[in-house]
Amino acid sequence: MVPMRLFAAWAVCLLLGWPGLLGCQRQPTSFKPTADPGEIIYFVPVREKVIALTFDDGPNEPATGQILDALKRQQVKATFFLIGANVERYPETARRIKAEGHLIGNHTFRHSRFDQSTASDISQDIADGYRAIETVTGVKPLWFRPPYGINGPGMQEACRAQGMAIAGWSADANDWNPHPVEELVDRIVSQATPGDILLLHDGWETNLGADRRNTAAAVPLILEKLKVQGFRFVTVPDLLRTAGRPVAEFKNGVRLLGLQIPAQPLPPGEGFWVRYFWDVPPGWGNLMPAAFVHYTSPDGTIRFQDDHKIPRLCDVRDRVLKHLVIVPRQAPLGRYQVRFGLFDPQNPDLRHRVPVRSAFRQQQGAVIIPDMLDVIQGPKP
Ligand SMILES: [Zn+2]
Repeated sequence: MVPMRLFAAWAVCLLLGWPGLLGCQRQPTSFKPTADPGEIIYFVPVREKVIALTFDDGPNEPATGQILDALKRQQVKATFFLIGANVERYPETARRIKAEGHLIGNHTFRHSRFDQSTASDISQDIADGYRAIETVTGVKPLWFRPPYGINGPGMQEACRAQGMAIAGWSADANDWNPHPVEELVDRIVSQATPGDILLLHDGWETNLGADRRNTAAAVPLILEKLKVQGFRFVTVPDLLRTAGRPVAEFKNGVRLLGLQIPAQPLPPGEGFWVRYFWDVPPGWGNLMPAAFVHYTSPDGTIRFQDDHKIPRLCDVRDRVLKHLVIVPRQAPLGRYQVRFGLFDPQNPDLRHRVPVRSAFRQQQGAVIIPDMLDVIQGPKP
């Protein structure tokens, strides 16, 4: 698989203090190191190689016990979003999760679909999950994750009232679909980005004895391989405590929390995946900004681009975008700069670029990422 690297917001701008020169301006505001009740967190801009592993739909034996064994062997702390009904079935496992120092979050009692529920049903399912977890483990959860990631009516208000922040995710093992263990591991290891909140499942909704042997087998391998890459693993709130600055903060409040492109050189004609972690303030409605992403020669000539809209998702993964970008066959060989910015949604043309703050170099209302993409001759090494 293609090794990846992250371009994030922690590089110190050498020109800080000389505003105007090469467009280096004020740094973006640091990411808040805590989350308020009702607030959704799905990715955290961080300086270090840290990741939060999260497990949904447990407890469910034997998978939860096997995963706990693996976490213990590797001395890793994770976050478990427990379903109240499953907590009542496996109270010992729920207490073991707590006793071994993992964070327990609430994943409702019934695992209901919030897009097919009323606000009062949603509030009730959240409250029932909370009560079951507290009764069995003594833990008063401070974090909540909605089933299927669906942000249903009144969910954020209910979490605010019940004192829980909301965890989305930025990386999904897709283990709810039966995949071979190697595929699960590869998928995670090849995409891991510092600041990721990674979604895995130790149960399957409220199904009794759900088969999660593949996830249980994948966990020790994921831990091993990511540790070799230098990652360490933390709970969701600990990930927030290590937060740094976003890559860029635009004057309209939109932030680019992180960006991931391949480290490996590519020949012309080859495609590569990019992940963008956007953050859009509430209240934007349907009028979303458009991003321009330019891959330029060092002289600033645009060789190819990946312009895109920032979509409005109705779930708690807002707004992780994954794009396949193709290096054109006629693209000259060499190093490419990556430069991106935003258009005013009302005026999506070149003259209406939204001013940006970033610790990185800037040019024409856009941020230039310090790392580069290499385009080389020949087949992929
Ligand atoms: Zn679930």
